[in-house]
Amino acid sequence: MAGQGEQSKYSRQVLFAGIGEAGQRRLGEARVALVGCGALGSAQANALARAGVGALRLIDRDFVEESNLQRQMLFDEADAREALPKAVAAERKLRLINSATRVEGVVADLVPENAEELLGGFDLFLDGTDNFETRWLLNDVAVKHGRPWVYGAVVASYGVTMAIVPGQGACLTCLMEEPGAGLEETCDTVGVINPAVNWVAALQVSQALQLLVGRWSPATAKIHRGDLWRNEFHASPLPRPRPDCRTCQRREFVHLAGKARPQVTMCGRNSVQIHERRRRLDLDELSRRLASQGDVRHNDYLLRLRVPPYELTLFADGRAIVGGTTDAATARSLYARYVGS
Ligand SMILES: [Zn+2]
Repeated sequence: MAGQGEQSKYSRQVLFAGIGEAGQRRLGEARVALVGCGALGSAQANALARAGVGALRLIDRDFVEESNLQRQMLFDEADAREALPKAVAAERKLRLINSATRVEGVVADLVPENAEELLGGFDLFLDGTDNFETRWLLNDVAVKHGRPWVYGAVVASYGVTMAIVPGQGACLTCLMEEPGAGLEETCDTVGVINPAVNWVAALQVSQALQLLVGRWSPATAKIHRGDLWRNEFHASPLPRPRPDCRTCQRREFVHLAGKARPQVTMCGRNSVQIHERRRRLDLDELSRRLASQGDVRHNDYLLRLRVPPYELTLFADGRAIVGGTTDAATARSLYARYVGS
C-alpha cells in the first residue's frame, strides 16, 4: 500500500513527459540545499518537497517575524509569536507536507568557515539569500565542487533568475564582480510583493527539476528578468563564461578564502547582524543574568532582550541581531554591554 501511495502522490508529475517514472526516481534520490529560507526559500522548499525530492537541507540564520508573513509562504502567525528560527519552522511545516522527503533545517549563517561543510554532499543549491556576499560565496563553492546552483533575486515587483552550471555557461562572477547599479535597493527601502517572489521561485524550481532529472540544456536555458507590476518580461540566452573570470576560469575562490564578514545589515528591517563571535551562548544562564536589564524572552533557539529603542536577538551559536539601529558601532557596543566582548 505504501508503494501505491507514493505512486499516486506523484501521479500527475509522472504523467508529465519531461519527468516520467525515471525522472521521479531521480528526484527521489536527489539532495538539494537551500541557502536562505525566507520568501524565495519558502516557495522553493514547498515546491521541491511536494515534487518528492529525496532530501532538503534548509540553511537560514533568521527568525520568523510578523512582517514576513505577507510573502514567506511556509510560516504562520504562531511561528512569528514564538519567534521560531525560519529553518526550524520550515522543517516542521515541510514534514507535514511530505513525510517522504528528508528535511533538515540548519540554523546558521553561511560563511566561508562553514560553507563547504554545509553544502557538501548536495547535488544542487538554490539561492534564497538576500545579499550578494552570500551569493558570491555560494558561487565559489558551486564552481569549486562542480555543482549547479540557481541564482534568484527579487525586490519590489522585479525579479531575475538564472541557472549557473559549472562548465556549461557563465558563473555569477562572469556577470558581476561587485554589486551593480540598482542592486542597492532592498526590500527594506522599496518593499516587495509576493507574486514577484513566487514568479522567481517558480523559475528557479523549474530549472532545478530539469537539472535533477537530467533534462537541463544550456541551449534552451535563459536569464529571466521580469517586472510583475509593469507586466514586462525578458528572456535572454545564457551568457558564455568571461575568459578572464577569476572564479570559473582562474579558479581563485576569493570569497571562500575570505574572513567572515564583521557584520551585515539585513534585508527587511532596521538592524545589524553581528556574527564574528563564534562561541556558543548558554541561553538559560543569559536569560537569568539579563532579567533585570529589560524584557527578556527565550525559547530553545534564541533569546530576545528588549531595551527600547533597541532589541537584541541572541542565537545559541553566538550570533546576534541588533534591531533599532543600522549603525555597526552601536550594535557592537550593545552586544558588549549585555553579552560581553
Ligand atoms: Zn565565471
